[in-house]
Amino acid sequence: MMELTDGWSGLLRRSTLSEECGVFGVWGHPDAGLLTHYGLYALQHRGQESAGIAVRVDEQDLRLRSGMGLVSEVFDPEDMKNLGGRAAVGHVRYSTTGEPSMRNAQPLCVRLQSTLWALAHNGNLVNAGSLRSRLEEEGSIFQTTSDTEVIAHLAARVGSGTARHRLETALGQIRGGYALVVLTPDELMCVRDPHGIRPLCLGRLDGGWVAASESCALDTVGAEFVREVEPGEIVHIDDSGMTSSFLGQRPSRRAGLCIFEYIYFARPDSNLAGLNVHQVRKQMGRYLAVDSSVQADVVSGVPDSSLSAASGYAEQAQIPYEMGLVRNRYVGRTFIQPQDSLRQLGVKLKFNPLRKVVQDRSVVLVDDSIVRGTTCRTLIGLLRTAGAGEIHIRISSPPYQYPCYYGIDTSRPGELIAADRSADEVRDLIGADSLSYLSVDRVAQAAGGDVADFCTACFDGEYIVPPQGEHDA
Ligand code: 5GP
Ligand code: SF4
Ligand code: MG
Repeated sequence: MMELTDGWSGLLRRSTLSEECGVFGVWGHPDAGLLTHYGLYALQHRGQESAGIAVRVDEQDLRLRSGMGLVSEVFDPEDMKNLGGRAAVGHVRYSTTGEPSMRNAQPLCVRLQSTLWALAHNGNLVNAGSLRSRLEEEGSIFQTTSDTEVIAHLAARVGSGTARHRLETALGQIRGGYALVVLTPDELMCVRDPHGIRPLCLGRLDGGWVAASESCALDTVGAEFVREVEPGEIVHIDDSGMTSSFLGQRPSRRAGLCIFEYIYFARPDSNLAGLNVHQVRKQMGRYLAVDSSVQADVVSGVPDSSLSAASGYAEQAQIPYEMGLVRNRYVGRTFIQPQDSLRQLGVKLKFNPLRKVVQDRSVVLVDDSIVRGTTCRTLIGLLRTAGAGEIHIRISSPPYQYPCYYGIDTSRPGELIAADRSADEVRDLIGADSLSYLSVDRVAQAAGGDVADFCTACFDGEYIVPPQGEHDA
């Protein structure tokens, strides 16, 4: 297994604002290892730093494979076939808390008394810092810097009882946004935080069970979607079937799915809370055209995550939709590079404008979000060099102003271009002729609810789970 630690690869992968992770689990299928391998391919967009799979070998043992890099770099499909196993959990990671190193790759495998556990976790715990200090003061020795190990230590301290009881007791002490799959040789457990900030769904395949961060991964392995794990629910699956329970009291606030899943994170072919992500994005684009119309010759989107919104904008505004930018699909995510100068180069490597499409034309360029502003600013420069006339930027989300504590690591809010600037100031900084955002109410409306149904903290500072200055990134 390849391990990238320091040096160039490590540097380029370091991030201060990063995406999330993807989790996948299988119970009761003879190809569990291989299915998990394919499931992780489908979730690769949720994290490219490391990948790992733990397979149940027999009633005693789990076997772990993990490494730094993409799913295709870490696993050999032939190996996965031979693992057999009947049950497995997998993870793709982009570090949100903890250094991007091999020791933080997941699943995290630990032995709790005599039982092996493999934990795969997406999200951030807001009280991980204080829990970790307390555990360390009381003698716990941590081997990683990830939040997941805090959960394992808390479970280890529950003196006795079933794995489910231990997990429930541990999770009763943590706060934050998470989706978690835990495998032991006896069971698979799938949990969402009490507000359902991070997504997790369940499917069935050939009599077995499959769990995944997004429904696109169920499609990939041919599993039939059953339902989402509910906020605060622990789904417990073993050879006698599936049962469900809830973590303590159910929160008064109904739910708080991360609205950014609809805006950017999730794949367009996934469904979240019953709505297809592409269609939601398209509706965001339509609202953007209604609320911020402008005269233009052509509408383009920034590939790939904005194409749905751009097509909705074009349809609503009745302006031709054109491919104004081509994306080099072999260049990774530019977003994650540490220095602004490197990031700009990354944007140029990634996108090339189509001169024939944009030259002497007034262009509406739709993007899903502006975070630091590097992408937009560089793209505007490229479009101007290619001869574009007016450039009108339309963003299918509100200004990203506040740090996220639930799985997206904005450890330096000073980097957020909209944190202390008006839309006009941002427009001038990125060099656009006009700039409009979509309001948070409209985003929620496109996602089939209102603001109270979602986490929208990075846009309005309304934190469902109070951070209390404990974020330890
Ligand atoms: P900016 O260049 O303004 O910092 O980032 C905005 C661009 O990055 C947008 O094109 C958006 O699609 C993308 N983006 C937004 N959030 C994230 C994220 O968490 N991770 C990655 N890789 N890209 C993001
Ligand atoms: Fe998602 Fe933003 Fe909430 Fe973070 S703060 S969970 S990115 S909506
Ligand atoms: Mg983008």
